[in-house]
Amino acid sequence: MNIEQVYKDANALLDGHFLLASGNHSRRYLQSAKVLEYPKKAALLTDALATLIKDAGIEVDTVCAPALGGVLAGYELARSLDVRSIFVEKKEGGMELRRGFEIKPGERIIICEDIITTGGSALKAAKAIEALGGKVVAFASLANRGICKRVGANNEAKPECKLPNNIPLFSLADFTFEMYSPDECPMCKEGSIAIKPGSKN
Ligand code: ZN
Repeated sequence: MNIEQVYKDANALLDGHFLLASGNHSRRYLQSAKVLEYPKKAALLTDALATLIKDAGIEVDTVCAPALGGVLAGYELARSLDVRSIFVEKKEGGMELRRGFEIKPGERIIICEDIITTGGSALKAAKAIEALGGKVVAFASLANRGICKRVGANNEAKPECKLPNNIPLFSLADFTFEMYSPDECPMCKEGSIAIKPGSKN
């Protein structure tokens, strides 16, 4: 499966002039929710992700996603792995399990996101799970921005990566885009205006 093509076909990989949450500009943007619009396509992606996890010999009881972004990917990955699916939600300074979800001491849990940038939300989810006695056996995401190192990739993790390096990250592909500060952005120099494509506008 050509993962980049799957994202392009879903209009999830955009070309243009984008203002990122970091304040930097970029020619490309991953609108990762778009790749999950069609559940049968989403299932093909999570089946591929589940295969990577199983082939690595990772045994898992439950998939836990950080809400909101990771929920659909986490739910589909749980289906692909035939395990339980739960999610954690934001609270002041971290994440917590709500809605009557419980975990058993020693339960083996994969933290699943749609996309890993620095891994900040995934790390908060992992801390919430570990505080309840769960064991985080892996991180997983459909897409990886190339800041953290996924299993099978040649790059090293960048200093901004927040994920612990003793727990593997499984992702389908790296999407590494060039970023520019507004002062140095070649598209701004050509007179174009950056647009904000994100989830918060
Ligand atoms: Zn620009």
